[in-house]
Amino acid sequence: MGNVSSVPGFDVVVAGAGIVGSACALELARSGLKVAIVEPGEIGGGATAAGMGHLAVMDDSPEQFALTSYSQALWKDLAPQLPRDVEYLPCGALWVAADEMEMAEVHRKYSFYQARGIAVEVLDQRALAEAEPNLRPGLAGGLLLKDDSVVYPPCAARYFVAEARRRGAEFFPGKRVVSARHGAAQLDDGTTLAAAHTVLATGTAAAANVQARKGHLLITDRYPGFVNHQLIELGYLKSAHSLQTDSVAFNVQPRQTGQLLIGSSRQYGIEDPAIDAFMMSKMLRRAVEYMPRLSGVSAIRGWTGFRAATPDKLPLIGECPGSKGVYLATGHEGLGISTSLATAKLLADLLLGRPSAIPREPYAPGRSFAHA
Ligand SMILES: Cc1cc2nc3c(=O)[nH]c(=O)nc-3n(C[C@H](O)[C@H](O)[C@H](O)COP(=O)(O)OP(=O)(O)OC[C@H]3O[C@@H](n4cnc5c(N)ncnc54)[C@H](O)[C@@H]3O)c2cc1C
Repeated sequence: MGNVSSVPGFDVVVAGAGIVGSACALELARSGLKVAIVEPGEIGGGATAAGMGHLAVMDDSPEQFALTSYSQALWKDLAPQLPRDVEYLPCGALWVAADEMEMAEVHRKYSFYQARGIAVEVLDQRALAEAEPNLRPGLAGGLLLKDDSVVYPPCAARYFVAEARRRGAEFFPGKRVVSARHGAAQLDDGTTLAAAHTVLATGTAAAANVQARKGHLLITDRYPGFVNHQLIELGYLKSAHSLQTDSVAFNVQPRQTGQLLIGSSRQYGIEDPAIDAFMMSKMLRRAVEYMPRLSGVSAIRGWTGFRAATPDKLPLIGECPGSKGVYLATGHEGLGISTSLATAKLLADLLLGRPSAIPREPYAPGRSFAHA
């Protein structure tokens, strides 16, 4: 029992300092609550370090649009305060249409976004070639989402934790939450943190109905001006929607350093974090199909990460059914960087009994997945 101690006096324990937990910790601390942050590894060292950092607005469902557009507005407001190492780059995103069928989708998306006040533009074949000269000739066009941007996620998480600590949050590094209930969270070293609420922002470890979805990425040497926007093929959506099949899609991001981040792949049912040479080369072949000159760039490092996916592709934000005082903030799949700030707002609103800017119910962990 030598190690057992009790630390009194927190309102909230946040388990996990990925982008989601750290954003929640900051929002809760900013709202005047006494916060404890518990993280066994590096801050932002989980999926957050593996992510691409595209801050996207998406239109797969009204609920996904509500969360991504709300969060993008929050990122935009925050941008002037972000330190340089967060590498906020307001580059816009270009969804690339390979043929006329995909152009029809471009026009459908354009109408959707335009009707909702999102800054968007349709590019025809020529305009696309001018915007991104390294794309292969003959692509049909694209959809430019002007307010999409890019950040370097682990530094964003570190900044959020530092800001939360500046507002009184206490950090418990090298420890993990092993159990939580209304009134206390238990750590793996035997410490009990007394707190009315615990937020489980532990990514793929947080909830039973979250599945890990493996992804590969690769970063290159510096090629400033090679790519001007976050580039994604429209076929990415087919890849992102598939719930079983392994898939790859052309996805290239310019970094503020001049480097290119090349993605992306999706695989289910695999726990091994090792690079899968077959998936990596399939992903790179796809990238070269869209951007032939990528075959001449030097790669520096490749890696993998795991997205936390739910059956209905919406995150779990709110109280765990049957566990009063225990909350989930996970299941963001490929959008956790984008939606971290909105997640933090919704969670803080819930804990403090405040109304939210968007409805919270669609993300409630207790929702039915029967039709997902
Ligand atoms: C290849 C790839 C590309 C991606 N691209 C994008 C993108 O462009 N845009 C976007 O928005 N999203 C993207 N994502 C998704 C994004 O990275 C994730 O949704 C996001 O990082 C999830 O953050 P998180 O804080 O929930 O999880 P994590 O970053 O995994 O953090 C969870 C933390 O919890 C800690 N933890 C685990 N167990 C415990 C415990 N018991 N107690 C305390 N702490 C614990 C872990 O150590 C970890 O630090 C991508 C993901 C991948 C894999």
